[in-house]
Amino acid sequence: MKYSDLVAVYAELEQTTKRLEKTAILASFLKKTQESDLDMVILLLQGKVFPSYDEAKLGVAAKLVIRAISTASGLTPAKLEQDWKKTGDLGLVAERMIHGKVQATLFSQELMVKKVFDNLKKLSSLSGAGTVDQKVKLLSELLTSAKPEEAKFIVRTVLEDLRVGIAEGTLRDSIVWAYLYQGNIEEKNQVENREDYKKVVEAVQEAYNATNDFATVAKAAKKGLPAVQDISISVGSPLQVMLAQKETTIDDAFSRVGRPAALEYKYDGFRMLIHKHEGKYALYTRRLENVTAQFPEVVNFIRDNVNGSNFIIDAEAVGFDAKTNQYLPFQHISQRIRRKYGILELAKKLPVELNVFDVLFLNGKSLIKEPFSKRRDTLAKIVTERPKKIILAHQLITGENKDAQKFFEAAIKAGNEGIMFKALDAPYKPGSRVGHMVKFKSAMETLDLVIVGAEWGEGKRKGWLTSFTLACKDEDEFKEIGKVGTGIKELEEEGLSFNELTETLKPYILSGKGKEVRIKPHVILEIKFEEIQASTSYGSGYALRFPRVLRERTMEKGLKDVSDLDLVKRLYAQQKKV
Ligand code: AMP
Repeated sequence: MKYSDLVAVYAELEQTTKRLEKTAILASFLKKTQESDLDMVILLLQGKVFPSYDEAKLGVAAKLVIRAISTASGLTPAKLEQDWKKTGDLGLVAERMIHGKVQATLFSQELMVKKVFDNLKKLSSLSGAGTVDQKVKLLSELLTSAKPEEAKFIVRTVLEDLRVGIAEGTLRDSIVWAYLYQGNIEEKNQVENREDYKKVVEAVQEAYNATNDFATVAKAAKKGLPAVQDISISVGSPLQVMLAQKETTIDDAFSRVGRPAALEYKYDGFRMLIHKHEGKYALYTRRLENVTAQFPEVVNFIRDNVNGSNFIIDAEAVGFDAKTNQYLPFQHISQRIRRKYGILELAKKLPVELNVFDVLFLNGKSLIKEPFSKRRDTLAKIVTERPKKIILAHQLITGENKDAQKFFEAAIKAGNEGIMFKALDAPYKPGSRVGHMVKFKSAMETLDLVIVGAEWGEGKRKGWLTSFTLACKDEDEFKEIGKVGTGIKELEEEGLSFNELTETLKPYILSGKGKEVRIKPHVILEIKFEEIQASTSYGSGYALRFPRVLRERTMEKGLKDVSDLDLVKRLYAQQKKV
């Protein structure tokens, strides 16, 4: 496929914010796409060259892109940087520069999707100081043969900022309409409540949740619905974890999962999905980031204490104080997730215990359709418990409110966040919040908000980003709701620090003006506050009074989990009642 065909689709998508139109554009494009191009095209449509769970990352800095545009256009980096400051979009800069030059090289070769894809992959495989020149060369080679609009999208892809806004649900629906559902897409709203339509959408979503790979799903969809329904989880490829619903009373929690239920401590750590595949171990976070290298001791705990030739286990890794053995809140161990050096020393300083609570795959067989009670029995059989290394999540089976209350109090006393209620007879549903598992925490309501801007600090905070602009979600958009600085520490030892947060945010900085920077939504913070106020200062129409950062949640939550404006409205209405 020619890259220009894909670019034409990006351009069409860029013209509309309507989900239905986007779905129609994508569906007709997918229909025309040959099977051999599907893998590449589906990733590139999402602005990626690697699936999100892949350890490989593009990781190209804006400076390098500027050098490549400079080589391709003959303009100085200083001039390009100036234009970048004005537009805030290096893609646009590349488009204009190439435009100025294109007449001279009218006869350059047509760019193919495969060439773009391969060069971008090669880019990321180069690492180390001496490779910058090679990276510039690979990228400028692409830009030299690109037409202006192609250059724009190549640059945006490299910077992982495609700006055409395809939500996961849109891609899912376009696969449905391209291959599985016959009808007029203009009538999508009418058919959405029909059982036959819902069944198809659900099958596609389930297949995606099990594989995290729309290309696999699309290829199956080309063959028909049964092929999609046949897709299941497989060891070695990360799947989306099952999510919990929330209830605020014990009665409500029981009514969702039934009595009796399995109650478990809700450990305040982070989710870890563990694969053993062909003798190798891989650890993924809830957002499917591969953290195997960061937790070598966890790999040892599993190797030494879990039986099975291959498996997928669901667990929570929790930090504890090496001296007192008390569990510690997640924030204490958060640095371990991103640490690239000194891993062994940090593992000693901030040890974790693995609390395993589910097994989804064992010895070549998926177990997700089996009832939870049976999966837990299987888990108990294959795991040898070693306190402070690996244990089965503490569990009580009961149907009594008073037992649940006692269990909850014991959980809080032991330093946990609360308890989970789990339906004994339920299957495991990857990626779903279906109510087979319910969380029950202590009362305080918090919001998970995403950082969309910040200010460079001054004085002793120089070099750090401070005062973070937060946004909530409103459908596919993010709307600002306030600024926060409180709760972030100056010293790393005390928890989430300005330094750590700055380092995390740097790759997501989109543009800057004076002290202020605009940040691509990615990093999510859990925010506590005194009150929600109506406000004209922020796009959401609301502001938070006395906001305070409780912790960073980027590892566990994706953009789709950011608290939405409806929740803000609901909380605002509730506080008015009391
Ligand atoms: P939340 O992040 O507030 O939506 O709560 C759900 C999270 O609690 C899960 O994603 C797990 O990371 C965590 N968790 C802690 N203990 C357990 C447990 N025993 N069973 C399931 N999830 C648990």
